[in-house]
Amino acid sequence: MTFPLNPDLHCHSTTSDGTLTPEELAARAKANGVDLWALTDHDEVGGQQRAMDAARGLGLRYLTGVEISVTFADSTVHVVGLGFDHTDPRMMEGLADTRDGRGPRAVEMGAQLAKVGIPGAYEGALKYVGNPRLISRTHFARFLVESGVCRDTAEVFRKYLTEGKPGFVPHRWARLGDAVSWITDSGGVAVIAHPARYNFSATLEYALFSEFRQHGGQAVEVVTGNHSAAEVLRYADLAREFDLAASRGSDFHSPDESHIDLGKLAPLPAGLTPVWSLLTERIH
Ligand code: AMP
Ligand code: MN
Ligand code: MN
Ligand code: MN
Repeated sequence: MTFPLNPDLHCHSTTSDGTLTPEELAARAKANGVDLWALTDHDEVGGQQRAMDAARGLGLRYLTGVEISVTFADSTVHVVGLGFDHTDPRMMEGLADTRDGRGPRAVEMGAQLAKVGIPGAYEGALKYVGNPRLISRTHFARFLVESGVCRDTAEVFRKYLTEGKPGFVPHRWARLGDAVSWITDSGGVAVIAHPARYNFSATLEYALFSEFRQHGGQAVEVVTGNHSAAEVLRYADLAREFDLAASRGSDFHSPDESHIDLGKLAPLPAGLTPVWSLLTERIH
């Protein structure tokens, strides 16, 4: 196998909260020079076969992917899975349980937003949903921008959809150990997604990395769309300290919303084990 030079192992399609289909993403990845790709929809593998088929048609190497929502220390953490069997029954069941409750949560978000003078947000968000099993805060954010309540999705999250704000409804997601087992038991590698985004104290971050590793997690995203250059170096150090492999993924959602396009990422810092070197047998 030739070693991939431009892997992008994190992005979202209309199967979760992205605006492009798996086929459109595959074409964009190819056009942007990606040479190893994974589609990682939130809590859902319904787009995997389409992504894999589209990649094959383009001669683009592919790893299966998913981004699982986890509750750790009363906060939400995301765990990316790569290279697992996307038809594995335990994975499918675990993801179905994790998605469960998104519907009622969205109805409650709509009710809370109505109380602060924004009526019809649930119905409005539904218009942006590509997969009825997966309504997310992103769909609300798109509606609030379109209806002129906020300028952009970042403002929506800041004012309405994050902890302590009027449209935020807390939710209990999968347990860390369960998410890691679903991935590793089906042949994949578990990756801590965008670690700089969690606002954990040093102690809690240490606990997350230690527990993740004890459960069998093997990698961390070092280069990702929303990491600064300093954060890349910081998580490169933590990867070495915890003996974790390193991943690279844009977290691309939409041409209109994402700062970083597919395949337009900095390289991994030197001296790290690339996560794809653990997955050579799992590449399609
Ligand atoms: P949910 O799984 O419904 O809680 O929605 C989480 C999604 O919201 C994430 O995957 C991001 O796509 C999006 N998101 C979270 N925080 C922000 C933010 N500050 N700005 C823009 N999008 C965000
Ligand atoms: Mn998202
Ligand atoms: Mn995420
Ligand atoms: Mn993501």
